[in-house]
Amino acid sequence: MAGELYVVGFGPGCPSARTPEAVEAIKAADVVIGYKTYIELISDLLEGKEVVSAGMREEVYRARKALELAGEGRRVAVVSDGDPQVFGMAPLVLEMASKLDAPVSIKVVPGVTAALAAGALLGAPLGSDFAVINLSPLLTPRGVILERVRQAAAAGFVLALYNPIDKQLLRDVLAVLRQIRGGGTPVGVVKDAYRQGQRVAVTTLNNVDVESVDMRTTLIVGNDETYVWRRFLITPRGYHRKYAYP
Ligand code: SAH
Repeated sequence: MAGELYVVGFGPGCPSARTPEAVEAIKAADVVIGYKTYIELISDLLEGKEVVSAGMREEVYRARKALELAGEGRRVAVVSDGDPQVFGMAPLVLEMASKLDAPVSIKVVPGVTAALAAGALLGAPLGSDFAVINLSPLLTPRGVILERVRQAAAAGFVLALYNPIDKQLLRDVLAVLRQIRGGGTPVGVVKDAYRQGQRVAVTTLNNVDVESVDMRTTLIVGNDETYVWRRFLITPRGYHRKYAYP
């Protein structure tokens, strides 16, 4: 009999930021498959389970293995941090399953993605339309990334920038943003949101400390209306254009 495959987002890290549905899906699985850092973050849920952990660039292996094991009748959870659709395992698993027309039941379980976790720690920087952009040049050409940043910034989106793993590309992105938005635009830099060692900094496009940004960091770049109050980044939703308040 064909098994079940859950593609689960367990949120930014700490147990309290997991959804009950994610916890149930992981607990119900016989086999849990994930990148080794992710497996460590959910180790409290793994007792008695078979665990397949693989390195960073082994996503294709993980997806294939998950489909194979589910095809043998096992109950499998593939885990991603944050949400599994957002630069996680859900698209790859479903692409592969669709190509194979795999005879397994598949369910995607959502999680709190880094932009929302980082956004909450900063207050409300995502208060207006925002774009989520992956800065890793691994699967997207650098020119495409820069052009997406340019167009999203020109269109007025707040930006949530994931995977800032390439320092030169990050410098180029910041230069493009300064040109369009101005160097004084507020930026939130959040490292290890909802994890041990969490760091939240508010700065400006001119002052982002590129050296301190790493692959566990999400940057949120404000739009033209975003401002700083106390430790908060606030992007108005637009009520001020319609109503007089407070
Ligand atoms: N599926 C994940 C994203 C995976 S891509 C999600 O929905 O959040 C990996 C990138 O996500 C990292 O490079 C970083 O930019 C961001 N990220 C994931 N977890 C984070 C955390 N706890 N704190 C800050 N950034 C995080």
